Amino acid sequence: MKTLIIAEHDGQSLKGATLSAVTAATKLGAPVDVLVVGSSVSAAASQAASVAGVDRVLTVEDAALEHTLAEFLAPIAKQLAGDYTHIILGASTFGKDLAPRVAALCGVNQLSEVIEVIDAETFKRPIYAGNAIATVKSSDAIKVMTVRGTAFAAAGNGGSASVEAASVTVPSAKVRFVGAEVSESDRPELESADIVVSGGRGVGSKEDFAKVFELADKLGAAVGASRAAVDSGFVPNDMQVGQTGKMVAPKLYIAVGISGAIQHLAGMKESGTIVAINKDEEAPIFGIADYGLVGDLHEILPELVSKI
Ligand SMILES: Cc1cc2nc3c(=O)[nH]c(=O)nc-3n(C[C@H](O)[C@H](O)[C@H](O)COP(=O)(O)OP(=O)(O)OC[C@H]3O[C@@H](n4cnc5c(N)ncnc54)[C@H](O)[C@@H]3O)c2cc1C
Repeated sequence: MKTLIIAEHDGQSLKGATLSAVTAATKLGAPVDVLVVGSSVSAAASQAASVAGVDRVLTVEDAALEHTLAEFLAPIAKQLAGDYTHIILGASTFGKDLAPRVAALCGVNQLSEVIEVIDAETFKRPIYAGNAIATVKSSDAIKVMTVRGTAFAAAGNGGSASVEAASVTVPSAKVRFVGAEVSESDRPELESADIVVSGGRGVGSKEDFAKVFELADKLGAAVGASRAAVDSGFVPNDMQVGQTGKMVAPKLYIAVGISGAIQHLAGMKESGTIVAINKDEEAPIFGIADYGLVGDLHEILPELVSKI
């Protein structure tokens, strides 16, 4: 048994999803290799080598791999797959793009959003928007899976793995990188923040969303949103929390003007302490909130901000 983790990184450092994948991999009790692919990977590779639980770091470095497109990465992973029983990625946008392609090239099923490793073949994963947990057993020779960052703590430092170049052929994909629109923010990353303040349709408008940002900035929090807020054009869709958005499990989640539809709860109900601000005392969000403030968010938010 041996596990390969495909690292998500920005050339300098590993993303939190990869550190969670290492923790999930160590539950299998088998050696863990981390594959770092890109145009310049030495910094990310040396970070990977220092992560506790990693035995070996494999690098693939080529100018053509600058944008780490799944169309290039999947064939590279396929070339290495024969040496492994498990291939693990974080259940981030990167992992969700890449893992199905790797699984398809290997001719196996993909296991999505694993939240618990029971043994080498048996895993738990949420279904029905997190309302039920399925225990699944895979008899595939290679288990290709994504794991939820909210279910596995990020692996810490303390490792001293070897770093070596993998012997693979860099594929010539039939795609080319055209451009990326990246939203820049000084705020913490939504999926790894300790505090998240999310706004919903109840916030009312793009302009009024400034009140949500103001509270978040006071708390040093990341900002999320419901799908209705995104669909209404208040904020971009990379801020969406929920079944079809991002999964978050901060220590503190503050839901502002969010009703608490199951699709939203699916993305945040694992949060430590949940605070809901809603003018409707019957709103379902109060069913899972630890603290509820019934009232008009336009009055409550400025008051909260002035008191913090
Ligand atoms: C397949 C599918 C996938 C989906 N995926 C997601 C997902 O990933 N994430 C997600 O969020 N949703 C998702 N949805 C949509 C989901 O069903 C809900 O429609 C959505 O979450 C509602 O967003 P909301 O709570 O902001 O809006 P609403 O349900 O309209 O709630 C607004 C709330 O604001 C309160 N409010 C209004 N004005 C004020 C005020 N002045 N002060 C205080 N409170 C106020 C209201 O009382 C109300 O409770 C999905 C739906 C489907 C079908």
